[in-house]
Amino acid sequence: MQDNKTVAAIATPNSAGGIGIVRISGKDALKIADKVFIAASGKHLCDSEGYKAHFGTIIDSGEPVDEGIALVFRAPKSYTGEDVVEISCHGGLYVTKRTLRAVLHAGAQPAPAGEFTKRAFLNGRIDLAEAESVMALIGAQGEQAASAAFNTLEGKLSQKISQTAHSLISVCAHMSAWVDYPDEEIEEISPNELKSVFTTAKTELLKMLQSFENGRAVTQGVDAVIVGRPNVGKSKLMNLLSGYERSIVTDIPGTTRDIVEETVKIGDIILRLADTAGIRSTENEVESIGVSLAKKRLTRAQLVIAVFDAAQELTEEDKKILADCKEKLTLAVINKSDLEKCADIDYIKDNTNASVLISAKNGEGFEELEKTLATLLGTADFDPSAAALTTERQRLCCERAVDNIEEALVALESGMTLDAVNVCADCAVEALLELTGERAGEAVVNEVFAQFCVGK
Ligand code: GDP
Repeated sequence: MQDNKTVAAIATPNSAGGIGIVRISGKDALKIADKVFIAASGKHLCDSEGYKAHFGTIIDSGEPVDEGIALVFRAPKSYTGEDVVEISCHGGLYVTKRTLRAVLHAGAQPAPAGEFTKRAFLNGRIDLAEAESVMALIGAQGEQAASAAFNTLEGKLSQKISQTAHSLISVCAHMSAWVDYPDEEIEEISPNELKSVFTTAKTELLKMLQSFENGRAVTQGVDAVIVGRPNVGKSKLMNLLSGYERSIVTDIPGTTRDIVEETVKIGDIILRLADTAGIRSTENEVESIGVSLAKKRLTRAQLVIAVFDAAQELTEEDKKILADCKEKLTLAVINKSDLEKCADIDYIKDNTNASVLISAKNGEGFEELEKTLATLLGTADFDPSAAALTTERQRLCCERAVDNIEEALVALESGMTLDAVNVCADCAVEALLELTGERAGEAVVNEVFAQFCVGK
């Protein structure tokens, strides 16, 4: 499976910056780097020890391109586990690209997306869950998400999953031995012991799944939609949340005809927020397209932010919106708290999961909104220092393991043979080892690294 070609790519962002880095990895990394980098000391990089930095000149087709630093890592003590050279040049786009071009001319192949981390995985430097946390760390938009990804990268999740998998493997092995070698005097494992191992494993995995759900809003973000009849202040709220004027705010009902989408951060919570056309019956053709888009978006939203006007009595339209949100996780934002209150706040509270009184005009109640959201979405209970699942793939593996453990418990309780129990437990082990990559197929591995960026 391992491709032993030497590869190279720009490891820094595709924009101007102080430094640009071209990373080369593979058995010829030092030889190739020597063709494009002349150290001021006169030393060849091929003769360099690992963890050494060399100042020198980068050359392309015999022409100097820039001054730079070549950082040498010797296998296996590098990110990929192979020989690696990182050439830092000035971070202009042209200079960085020209340095890469020189390296490719000298014999390196362009590295596909995620290739360096994939090599780190294939060379046993990190497991699959840790590799995924590299991307989670790069993509983290807040402290909690970064901290959770970092802990996974440090191996916290893998340790926990390994422990659970090995407790199951050990009882599976015992059961197999007992079933396969009836003549040997292998002690039969008691149903109570099995039950205890399965229950402990299930509890641990359920805790991780719950933690993933609690952290979803900070690690993955949540699809949210703002609904409400025209003129209650949806656009104003959207502007307050996203920090600048995006939707058109006017006094004429029905001004927001398209769906305005924005990713906003409230504390550490990420909301992919859509402000929709006021959901209302309308004769206007363009407006009715907006209304139908809004309804579709409402169906797939994970969170509904339903806005009401505190200064007006609830209308039939408001009540219809409350009824439409019944099956959804709904936060009621009762807006215009700066005006005299007329709305039936208790009615709103009784028909939503949480509510908060704010003024989108002067920002009053914003802190309360942040706290209420954290409680509603579970992030208030999220502990980023615990072993955390960081991707949907990991969550699915974990869920599959729980389902199989539950089946093993049912098989045990209904008095089925140890063989049947063993099959279920074994499937749970498979799912956990797929999570860490110990037994992941090539397709799964390729799928994981396809999500990466070039240069990582
Ligand atoms: P939308 O149709 O629901 O998007 O409502 P807009 O955001 O366009 O707001 C409608 C009107 O209500 C505008 O005149 C806003 O200035 C006003 N408005 C919005 N929020 C507040 C608020 O908190 N207090 C007051 N007094 N007026 C507000």
